[in-house]
Formats: sequence, C-alpha cells, structure tokens
Amino acid sequence: VPAIRPSCELCDSATEAVLWRDDRLRVVRAGDADHPAFCRVIWRRHVAEMTDLDEAGRAHLMHVVWAVERALRDTVRPDKINLASLGNRTPHLHWHVIARFRDDARFPDSVWSEPRREAAPRSWPEFDERLRAWLMRELGTGTG
Ligand SMILES: [Zn+2]
Repeated sequence: VPAIRPSCELCDSATEAVLWRDDRLRVVRAGDADHPAFCRVIWRRHVAEMTDLDEAGRAHLMHVVWAVERALRDTVRPDKINLASLGNRTPHLHWHVIARFRDDARFPDSVWSEPRREAAPRSWPEFDERLRAWLMRELGTGTG
C-alpha cells in the first residue's frame, strides 16, 4: 500500500541529468549555476535517515558516494570536496558531493551560504559524459 506523503522533489524529479543509476539509488548532476560540479547521490526509496537502511544498503550508498568523490577529483581537480547529508527541507535520503574551488561564489563557506563574490566562470567539456564513463568503469553498468 503506497504511503501517503507530501510531494517530494527527489521522488518527483524528472528533469535532472542522471549520471549513473541502479535499482537502489541514482547519481545526478545538481544543475547549480554557481557550483557546476555538484552531484547528488539519491536513495531510491523515500526514507529519511541512514539508519533506515540496512547495513548492506548503507555500505552500497557510501561506496557510490566515494566513487562520485573520486570521479569529481579526477575530472575537475577541485581545491576541496564537500560532502553533506542534511535533508531538513527534503527528508529523502541523499548525499551532496560538491567540487569546490577557491574562486567559486561562496568559498570557504558552504554552498548554502550567501555569495561572497561573482563565481569564476568554470565549465568542463562533456562533463556529464566523462562522469558517466568514470562511474560506469568504477561501478559497472548498474540496473534499473
Ligand atoms: Zn522522496
């Protein structure tokens, strides 16, 4: 029986750029103009907390988070990676994996802070394709 829940942008999202997926989770590019190398790893089921997953689920989720971190380091050579799992506004389990640069709009503050400066323009040719290829090499083709 489907639970009645308020609308959830991570359950309902249809326009995001999916970089990898399997039957348990998906990796997407967030599409943040100030922080273009910003990915999310989103658990498929609508659960709120890491401890709503069993041990194997938690291990799988973090394995993919580490893969995305390494894919971003290898692809865009950031000054820092930020990892975050908040979910206060959207209590659907997800991790943010964000490549940060000293000249981005908010460094050294979090990406949710007020901007300090105009973001230095940054883009990487074929970012999505490179991330997809990297993740497929590391994680396999996935399913679902
Ligand atoms: Zn949801």
